[in-house]
Amino acid sequence: MSFASVLEYWSADRVRERISLSSERDVERALSKEELTETDVCALLSEAARPWLEAMAQLAHRRTRRFFGRTIGLYAPLYISNICGADCVYCGYAVRSGSKLKRLTLTEAEIRRECEALAARGFQHVLLLTGEAPRAVPVSYIEKAVSLAREYFASVSIEVYALDEDEYRRLVYAGLDGVTLYMETYDRETYARVHLKGRKRDYAYRLDAIERAGKAGVRRLSIGALLGLYDWRIDGFWAMLHARYLQKACWQSAISMSFPRLIHTPPRFRVVNPLSDRDLVQLMLAARLFLPEVGFNLSTRERASLRDRLIPLGVTMMSAGSSTRPGGYSTHGEETLEQFEIEDTRSPAEVAEAIRKAGYDPVWKDFDAAFVDDQVGWVGSCVEGSTDDENHS
Ligand code: SF4
Repeated sequence: MSFASVLEYWSADRVRERISLSSERDVERALSKEELTETDVCALLSEAARPWLEAMAQLAHRRTRRFFGRTIGLYAPLYISNICGADCVYCGYAVRSGSKLKRLTLTEAEIRRECEALAARGFQHVLLLTGEAPRAVPVSYIEKAVSLAREYFASVSIEVYALDEDEYRRLVYAGLDGVTLYMETYDRETYARVHLKGRKRDYAYRLDAIERAGKAGVRRLSIGALLGLYDWRIDGFWAMLHARYLQKACWQSAISMSFPRLIHTPPRFRVVNPLSDRDLVQLMLAARLFLPEVGFNLSTRERASLRDRLIPLGVTMMSAGSSTRPGGYSTHGEETLEQFEIEDTRSPAEVAEAIRKAGYDPVWKDFDAAFVDDQVGWVGSCVEGSTDDENHS
């Protein structure tokens, strides 16, 4: 069974109804369980759960500690290109964003300089990012960038346009460890409304991309919905279902989720479904209780004070000292176009200190590079059809 058929069963109407019919008794029942059903998580996402956020937070804290201990991994995004042929209306890189700032793709020498700058700050885990420009930034370029980055870092992930399975496999051979790919929104109509140009318009191709990465042997798979595009409760619920589906379908990969919230957007786009800090906290807590073994990533999109408060509630990875423009760490300063403005502008050392203050250990490197090398040649981890009907309970 594909994830598309899981989504078909959990239609927006069905999810909305379950959430709106949830009572405080349903919330209490959900909180008394070790393993939550889809109906339980609907209760935790509902208005009825609002008075229970403190209890949810305590439980989420205990469950995260049980599965992840007292560690928070640190990573840095590294933008290697800001050229994009797609037109996603919420994004600063969109081909029709109207920005006149410089667009470029880093040379090999520039990628090395960026890697050196990040390695000097202590990072051992890097996320390479591009726009959607398969001609200007082909898979061969990403492959080269991955192998260059592997000379500096124990773990290299990518957040690029959706690829075929063979292309992901090629990157695994080059040393790729992780793929981050947000569906942005799982709601088809909204998806079509905000993605106006490029391959990204193909909803089905994007929806299955992360599973293709798992089949190709990518060890870390990270997903999320771009919060603010659609009803956060429903998109958040679908993202959780996706994570649970991947846990079964790609059982040899580690699954993680992000909760990116649209805050700074280009002038032409207004966030129609904004969510408050409280909404974000409720969503993360519900997700933690539904998915205790899934890692949670928290980026510098959120402000420092909120990030610090979220640390004990389920976060397992944080970015720090981020730049969202190519060459932002070493070569091109402020001259290139950035994807979005970050909120937490603290240095990596300051973020590490905040993690320590919260009683956690910041971890720059969470596994040995040799382990990744052992994975090269390992064939895909996804078991087709392994997701059973439990998802439809
Ligand atoms: S979200 Fe990605 S594909 Fe869309 S415009 Fe931005 S960089 Fe391009």
